[in-house]
Amino acid sequence: SSVPSDLSTTSRYNEAQGHGSVVATHYNTLEEKGLAERCKSRIFYLRNFNNWIKSMIINEYLSKTWQGKSHGSPLRVLDMCCGKGGDLLKWRRGNITHLVCADIAEVSVDQCQARYNELQNRSKNERGFAPVFTAEFLSADCTKVRLRERYKDPSMELDLVSCQFSFHYCFESLPQAETMLLNAAECLRPGGYFIGTIPDAYEIVKRQQNAGDTFGNEIYKVEFQCDTEPPLPLFGAKYNFHLEGVVDCPEFLVHFPTLVKLAEKYGLQLVAKERFDSYYEKVREEGRSLLGKMQALETYPPFHEAPLLGRVPEDYEHVQQYMQKST
Ligand code: SAM
Repeated sequence: SSVPSDLSTTSRYNEAQGHGSVVATHYNTLEEKGLAERCKSRIFYLRNFNNWIKSMIINEYLSKTWQGKSHGSPLRVLDMCCGKGGDLLKWRRGNITHLVCADIAEVSVDQCQARYNELQNRSKNERGFAPVFTAEFLSADCTKVRLRERYKDPSMELDLVSCQFSFHYCFESLPQAETMLLNAAECLRPGGYFIGTIPDAYEIVKRQQNAGDTFGNEIYKVEFQCDTEPPLPLFGAKYNFHLEGVVDCPEFLVHFPTLVKLAEKYGLQLVAKERFDSYYEKVREEGRSLLGKMQALETYPPFHEAPLLGRVPEDYEHVQQYMQKST
C-alpha cells in the first residue's frame, strides 16, 4: 500500500527543547487527591466514565490474550505512560504475571510503585486477596528512550502494551512518534496487542473551525498554539489542553491515518478503532454492573476515541516497501 507523500512533513513550529519537561513538571506537581476530594469535583463522573472505558478495553484485550495461552504460561504487560498507577487494579484483576510501568514524570512513577507495594502487602496479609504480579518501574521519556534497554530482561516478550490517554504526546515530532511506536512494538510477541486511548483530532479540529483557536466551557479549554490554517502539520500540531484540576499542558493532534501508517512500519496492524460513544454502545450491557460500581456517567463524552492496534506476524515485504518509499 502507498505511503502518504506528506508523511515526512514536520511541524512548522518545531522547538529545539521539546515539551517533555513541561509535561513532566505538570504531572509531577499534580496533587494526588483523596476520594472525598475527587467526589466533589465537577468531572468526577466523567473521569469515572473514562476509567470504565479503560477497564472495558483492558478486559477485552486481556481476555483475548488469555484465550490464546496454554495453562500456566505467563502474561506480560507494558503500561506505557502509566502515570500514578491508575490501572494497577485492572492488571491485578486481569491476573497478569508481570508488569512494566514507564512514565516521564518520576514523581508519578514513585507513586505508582508505592501503590504497587501496598497491593503486594495486602495480598500477603489479607486472606482471599489475589497474589500480585511482579513489576518493574521506569522513569523515562517514552518518546526518546528505548525502553527495552532498561528492562531487567531485555529479551522479555510482552503480550500486551497499553498506552492510556497519553499517546498523543508523541505526535510532537516524527522521531518521537517513531520512538514511541518502536517501544510499543519491539518486545511485543507476534499476535500481541497494543491498545490505547487518545483525543479525537477530527472532533477537536471541527470545534476549532466552528469556534476559533480558543474554545471550551467552564470545565475544559483548548487553545491552539500552532498555525491553524489548513493543512495542519502532521506532527507538532500543538494546543494547550486544560481540564479542571487534572490537566493543563501542551498536547498534539494525532492524525490517525499517519498513526496507522507509522504503526505498520513497526509491524502493528490496525485491528479496531472506535470513538468512545460507539464503544460505549457496544459494551454497555456487559459493562453495566461495573459502570454502576465505578459511579460513571451513563452517557458518553464525545471527546476521545480508542485506537486499538494488534500485532500480526511481521510482514517484511510490506515494511520494506514502506521504508523504501519513505527514504
Ligand atoms: N495512563 C495513565 C492513566 O490512564 O491513568 C496516565 C494518563 S495521564 C493523562 C498522561 C500521562 O502521560 C502522564 O502520567 C504523563 O507524565 C505521561 N507522559 C506524557 N508524556 C510522556 C512521555 N513522553 N513519556 C512517558 N510518559 C509521558
